[in-house]
Amino acid sequence: MDSKKIIIAIDGHSSCGKSTFAKSIAARLGYIFIDTGAMYRAVTLYALEHGAINSGIVDEERVVSMLNDINIDFRFNPQRDASDIYVNGDLVEGKIRAIEVSNCVSAVSSIGDVRSKLVAMQQQMGKKRGVVMDGRDIGTVVFPEAELKIYMTADAMVRAERRYKELTAKGDKVTLEEIYENVVSRDKADMTRAISPLRKADDAIVLDNSSMTVDEQMVWFMERFNEVISGK
Ligand code: C5P
Repeated sequence: MDSKKIIIAIDGHSSCGKSTFAKSIAARLGYIFIDTGAMYRAVTLYALEHGAINSGIVDEERVVSMLNDINIDFRFNPQRDASDIYVNGDLVEGKIRAIEVSNCVSAVSSIGDVRSKLVAMQQQMGKKRGVVMDGRDIGTVVFPEAELKIYMTADAMVRAERRYKELTAKGDKVTLEEIYENVVSRDKADMTRAISPLRKADDAIVLDNSSMTVDEQMVWFMERFNEVISGK
């Protein structure tokens, strides 16, 4: 049935559960899940740890000069039933979600050379199809020919509350206000940047999950998936 394997592109706003959704779809279909936000976060973490971001100011030239030193790879972790991200052989999965990274990632992801490098890697990863990729530009730039495109969104406060619960459960000291501000400002930065801004592809289907459970989203998804597979 390999000929039926498709590319599923999931784009949308920050913290609306894209990765959780994409991961469960991939597990259900036996597809590979690729979290492209983790790749932009990994570059941001490296830049923070190597002096290219100071007091929240991103030195774009330094970030670009570091790109050849940043080797990103994903390795499957059976305990999480998903792939962990590594930078130069170091596991960074736990560090890349910290608020310090979230606060700088939109600035780093607006750099053209950063995007060219990561987009090329993502296209390579999806070459064999059978992938669920989530991000901001998957249906518009990375795989404009994807057979199924979903544009996810949810109310900004609902998203902030979800992210707040996730981070405080891990022991991070954050406030709901700062998370809310981060979610809103990242949306704005991602939608207004010059290169590959977040926008709904013309052929994407909108999923607003503000008041939907994970199970309800899966039922919604499977109906769309079956329509595409059966050629309806
Ligand atoms: O998906 P996540 O919230 O982890 O993404 C972090 C940031 O990475 C986004 O706010 C956005 O600036 C950037 N990003 C991007 N293009 C992608 C995925 C993420 O610009 N395909």
